Amino acid sequence: MQYILGKERAKDIIMNFLEERIQKDGVVKENNVLKVDSFLNHQMDVALFKQMGEEWKRRFADVPVTKILTIEASGIGIACVASECFDVPVVFAKKSRTINIDGEMYTAEVESFTHKCVNQIVVSKKFLNSDDHILIIDDFLANGCALQGLISVVSQSHATLAGIGIAIEKGFQPGGQTIRNLGYRLESLAIVDAMDAATGQITFRKQN
Ligand code: 5GP
Repeated sequence: MQYILGKERAKDIIMNFLEERIQKDGVVKENNVLKVDSFLNHQMDVALFKQMGEEWKRRFADVPVTKILTIEASGIGIACVASECFDVPVVFAKKSRTINIDGEMYTAEVESFTHKCVNQIVVSKKFLNSDDHILIIDDFLANGCALQGLISVVSQSHATLAGIGIAIEKGFQPGGQTIRNLGYRLESLAIVDAMDAATGQITFRKQN
């Protein structure tokens, strides 16, 4: 089921806190880009991040989590605030264009949705190991390249992937379906099923 909203909010529709904020302050751009830089990935609303962290904690209450893994740059803020709710450290994958990686790193290739280039991501082997239960956190899920890179890092470390928490999934792009089809537990706080740059209209997927 879906609900469709323009800037005029329908009275009888209950949105969650993040959908409300996207509706209020998100800007739909051309080329399937949703700009949320006034509260999420440039200026940051830390109180909103706290609500997001608490919601992921609620949704992943049944699984052990020993570490949060994210990717620079936009994932770091939300992952840090979420880490307080889980009381675990955060590790972030660094983006590096160099090919001089020493043997003490897990590496994966990630194509950037926003910058249209390929980055190598690296995580030191010191910080992830086979005893860990990893929760991956990121701001957006579009085609799923960033997530596939992070999942590869977790699998190289032989840690357990406890789950994946995404702030905004763009459900009209293939990443979410691909990740769910692979059997991973994916909790997106807001799923945008359609958006229109001309009208600013955003369609959210109804979630339980
Ligand atoms: P993916 O790898 O799933 O194609 O894209 C995920 C990454 O691209 C996210 O970490 C995020 O930084 C960026 N991204 C993808 N779509 C959007 C978007 O609509 N708006 C913004 N601000 N970032 C996006």
